[in-house]
Amino acid sequence: MKVGIPKGLLYYKYYPFIHTFLEEVGAEIIVSDDTNKRILNEGVKYAVDEACLPMKVFHGHVVSIKDKCDLMIVPRIMCIRDREYICPKFCGLPEMIKNSIPGMPKITEIPLYINSEKNLYNWCRKIGFMITSNLYMVDTAYIKALAVQGNFKMGINDEGQNIKVALLGHPYNIYDNFINMGLVDKLHKFGVGVITEEFVPEDDIDKEVDNLFKRPFWSFARNSYGAAANLFSKNKIDGIIYISSFACGIDSVVIELIKHRIGDFPFLVLKIDEQTGEAGFNTRIEAFVDMIERGNKIEGNISAHGECVHCS
Ligand code: SF4
Repeated sequence: MKVGIPKGLLYYKYYPFIHTFLEEVGAEIIVSDDTNKRILNEGVKYAVDEACLPMKVFHGHVVSIKDKCDLMIVPRIMCIRDREYICPKFCGLPEMIKNSIPGMPKITEIPLYINSEKNLYNWCRKIGFMITSNLYMVDTAYIKALAVQGNFKMGINDEGQNIKVALLGHPYNIYDNFINMGLVDKLHKFGVGVITEEFVPEDDIDKEVDNLFKRPFWSFARNSYGAAANLFSKNKIDGIIYISSFACGIDSVVIELIKHRIGDFPFLVLKIDEQTGEAGFNTRIEAFVDMIERGNKIEGNISAHGECVHCS
């Protein structure tokens, strides 16, 4: 059976698992290309106007491979951590796809709870039985996929640059280089290092969110806020860049929480949608780096007592 995997949304986080599992149950995998202009245009054409950019891009990936596969993985992700939820758009993704894109092959619609191995196993069994009737094969595929995912290290933590910024936002905005217009490379060219939330220990993130009046309801919000607050309070970064999808409700809340926590610390929010122009994007990044450099120079000229070292 040919099984399609659209390279969008949480693909960047969980692709080792899904690739391994499908291969081990004997599927032939069809993965869409890296996001490109054609995929974006197809996504914009088929998705509802109100959808955020990552959802439109996901639609484009689906369109690009729908005629090549017998079954398409369109995960209905409900939750990735206990007592937390994920954006409702993930929960309704199969309906969005079915209603927006004509001529779809069979798609996976089973709700996926990644908060426990038992829930994940149940999902894998149901998907596995769409491809093979061999339970032993499904079970060994599941075990192998778990091991491969467990060994997968995600995230960026650059060393050696004079300036380091936390790069925060949803994984699909951070790791899809078409969506973010090659932001990490751009920062490297400016001599700026990057650290992402994966390099903040889970316990430290928990401590930060526990200090809030109310714990964030969504996993994405927890991760971004917790990482920002921890890296800021431990003085590990010179600034924060947040990549935000236009019209994303979760982002609006997280951005305000972060602003409230860090005060006037350098913070750049880059809003992206299909209209975002690269020239304006570059100008904002350059201005932000310039501001951090000037701030660091001024700080370097101030003594521990708050006096200018050149005047005293
Ligand atoms: S969390 Fe925001 S960016 Fe992600 S799918 Fe939901 S609305 Fe879109």
